[in-house]
Amino acid sequence: MIVVMRQGVGAEQVQAVQNLVTSWGLKPHVSAGAQRTLIGLIGDEAQMNAESLAMLPGVERVMAVHKPYKRVSAEFQPERTVVKIPPVRHGDRGLTIGGPGVVVMAGPCSVESREMLLALGAFLKGAGAHILRGGAFKPRTSPYAFQGLGVEGVRYLVEERSVVGMPVVTEVMDTRDVEMLAEFADVLQVGARNMQNFNLLKALGRCQKPVMLKRGLANTLEELLMSAEYVMSEGNEQVILCERGIRTFEKFTRNTLDLSAVPVLKRESHLPVVVDPSHGVGHWDLVAPMARAAIAAGADGVMIEVHPDPTQAVSDGPQSLTPQRFKELMGSLELVARAVGRNLV
Ligand code: PEP
Ligand code: MN
Repeated sequence: MIVVMRQGVGAEQVQAVQNLVTSWGLKPHVSAGAQRTLIGLIGDEAQMNAESLAMLPGVERVMAVHKPYKRVSAEFQPERTVVKIPPVRHGDRGLTIGGPGVVVMAGPCSVESREMLLALGAFLKGAGAHILRGGAFKPRTSPYAFQGLGVEGVRYLVEERSVVGMPVVTEVMDTRDVEMLAEFADVLQVGARNMQNFNLLKALGRCQKPVMLKRGLANTLEELLMSAEYVMSEGNEQVILCERGIRTFEKFTRNTLDLSAVPVLKRESHLPVVVDPSHGVGHWDLVAPMARAAIAAGADGVMIEVHPDPTQAVSDGPQSLTPQRFKELMGSLELVARAVGRNLV
């Protein structure tokens, strides 16, 4: 930490900072310039309280020199994390997220029925999707909106998983469901609204399944990284970061998809980064260009909502692709992946 003193502070104010710093077992290093005095803190900063320092008279600001995140940081671990998803069926290859290949996750916003999932899952697999998505527990803005099929929806996902041999990703909203979902799903999704549900993050940190953490509606990338730090600090290192758009003043799109998040997160962290253009834009006709842009920007995967008949969807119909449109998109995603020296896994 570096403490920046206000211009023209007195010696006693500088001394007060030194006294507090020393009381924490740290060594203050004072450099008195012509304009300002700076005080560097030397030693283990674990015991210090930056807010107490900032409250002292004469202190203008307290600046961190180190990043607040450790385990997620590319400085802490230079080699990239590759999340491994074991094969669903004996003899299959299994999947990696964060390796050379780009992963496509696709499926309905909500699991609506067994029949819907059976037909759609087979189609998506045939079209080349790698992971089946589908919400059984849905975080809806209104308590009167469809809340998901719950455990029944999980049952359909599990059935479809083994019928088509595709891993599944589904959202977990409650710490009480972590154990059950960790048993049945291949990737556990933390939705945007729960990105800072710290008890949920800690519970997921104690399970052994990959966690896909979506960026909150109004959260900075540093906050997303700190949430990933929560999961990793409990021992689970299989974390995938997901950009899904943030809330801005723009109205033409549901959210503003922040694609600069991809190179920033890949610079700051060793974790895989995926993009959800469906929630990012909210309109099906904007999904394909942003999915392609995400891969061009270096994303390790994309997550696309697909519905057999979007006009009848119980949630997020307007942003869902028809199966046919999804199939067309897959062809162009492969081309973009190759253009940036990658391929679909
Ligand atoms: C979802 O992917 O089903 C979802 C609800 O997304 P988000 O949490 O990003 O809104
Ligand atoms: Mn949705």
